[in-house]
Amino acid sequence: MTVQILSPRTRAYLQQPGGWFLNNAGWVLGEQRVLLVDTLATEARSRRLLDAVRADAGDKPVLAVLTHAHGDHANGARLVVEQGGAVRATPHTAATVHSGPHTYPMAFQCSTWGDITPPHITDTITAREEVDLGGMRVQLLPVEGVAHTDGDLIVVVPEDGTVFAGDLVFAGVTPLAMSGSVSGWLAALDQIAAIEHTRLVPGHGPVLPAHSEEVAELGGYLRWLLDTAADPGYDRSAAIAEAGRRWAHWSEGERHGANLVVAEAELRGQRAELAEVATVMLAATGGPIALDL
Ligand SMILES: [Zn+2]
Repeated sequence: MTVQILSPRTRAYLQQPGGWFLNNAGWVLGEQRVLLVDTLATEARSRRLLDAVRADAGDKPVLAVLTHAHGDHANGARLVVEQGGAVRATPHTAATVHSGPHTYPMAFQCSTWGDITPPHITDTITAREEVDLGGMRVQLLPVEGVAHTDGDLIVVVPEDGTVFAGDLVFAGVTPLAMSGSVSGWLAALDQIAAIEHTRLVPGHGPVLPAHSEEVAELGGYLRWLLDTAADPGYDRSAAIAEAGRRWAHWSEGERHGANLVVAEAELRGQRAELAEVATVMLAATGGPIALDL
């Protein structure tokens, strides 16, 4: 874990190398309160994150916002509430979190979740908002439609040009589209590109400069998924092998098959079946993925 100081008021909390359930978070210091962007996968990891926030922010009230409902980003929400903080999210993210926790035991083996019972998030973010933290303003930008998930949220710190993109950006790690829409994700990347910013904190991987090669490569990969699945001679196995060669520098390559299943469904005008996505991915790993969290 690394706390990267991005500006006098903004921090990124980075978990390397950023693979399964090792996500980034961050926070913004105001004079009255601190805005936390995302939590972590396990109770213990989220506790360490909140300890780091307290060490930096003192006893200022914590307002946490969740960029999306995936467990790595959202499982610590309970702890935020337990420690007296508030949690906000878009309506779909709030509903998905509340119906969890989603640990997918058929796909992942993990014995260290701790207590990740989700809270009921009632204060939702339904439209673009500006939040005043006291001498520091932060913008909350819900993404329209389905992108990485249904209910993604972008957080912008205009004063220092930081964008917290959540899992709309992966760097050095294969993106995961299993809960989302490839074309919707491409539209969300356009939305990010239109935001004036100087740096971007991805959901997984290192902090990036604005308009980085990594984001361009992510867009190229998402377009490749749709183009490849639409090709008349499409063969999923061959495409998985090709992706593994072209993006060999990304970890978690077992996600290529899952992403292709999502693209195939999308071209049929459907959402992918989670069971099929999981089956294709676990065929690549040879069984459930053991998490060391
Ligand atoms: Zn995610």
